[in-house]
Amino acid sequence: MTTGFTEPAKKHLGQNFLHEKGVIAKIVQAIDPQPGDVLVEIGPGQGALTFPLLDRHGELTAIEFDRDLHAPLQAASREHGILHLIAGDVLDVDFTALAARRSDARGQIRLIGNLPYNLSSPILFHALDHAAAIRDMHFMLQKEVVERMAAAPGSKVYGRLSVMLQAYCAVTPLFTVPPGAFRPAPKVDSAVVRLVPKPAECIEVADRATFANVVRAAFGQRRKTLRNALQGVATPERISAAGLRADARAEQVAVAEFVRLANLVATHGP
Ligand code: SAM
Repeated sequence: MTTGFTEPAKKHLGQNFLHEKGVIAKIVQAIDPQPGDVLVEIGPGQGALTFPLLDRHGELTAIEFDRDLHAPLQAASREHGILHLIAGDVLDVDFTALAARRSDARGQIRLIGNLPYNLSSPILFHALDHAAAIRDMHFMLQKEVVERMAAAPGSKVYGRLSVMLQAYCAVTPLFTVPPGAFRPAPKVDSAVVRLVPKPAECIEVADRATFANVVRAAFGQRRKTLRNALQGVATPERISAAGLRADARAEQVAVAEFVRLANLVATHGP
């Protein structure tokens, strides 16, 4: 699989290449590409997921930052299918514009990636900005990040990432992957997660910016009560109008409660 790839892995680009065939097969099976799907992979690397997906699906778009990988990827992809390679930073890629050029019958793309772990959160928030253009996402991430994404209120790891993602997506952890499945092996366990953006009519957030602001402030100082953490963002009266106790802490507040509070702030101000 690595024929033609001569450069050593670059740590600063989060390059931990998958080599465990069983894990790769499980990811492809979880994605289960269907005719008409438009697959977009973030960080194809040396093609560990790209080539099996091409074998199965025939065509795929991939976004890779590391220019040293482009020529070998393009060359090796030929015997597997059609690879549309976008050279650059995934954070600069407008997924909505990408879907406008090529998408499934519903106007959506499917995102896939064994993500560079140092960029996990920025990539997740970037994808959220384009959620309407995305049918689903299958990502390999640090296991600890997947636990935070899927956490429920009251859990130690419930935080901004949990609330922001769960307000817009169904988050389903699929399976964990040990360090030995990668070369070089990362220091941490990994996990694969599925995110399915909710249809627009099921999203209850009235104003995305206000919601983001309320959640950021609430968890900015997670040991503080809502009354203190939300100073300047929501008054104690607004907090109780949303049915919340001003002396509660953010980690006890459910996603739907954050949505209710943010919607009141969006309509009436702090
Ligand atoms: N998909 C391959 C695999 O599973 O073996 C590689 C995964 S490796 C964890 C992450 C990949 O993302 C690397 O190929 C790296 O060069 C690429 N990458 C890092 N930063 C990126 C960015 N900002 N935009 C696009 N790709 C990036």
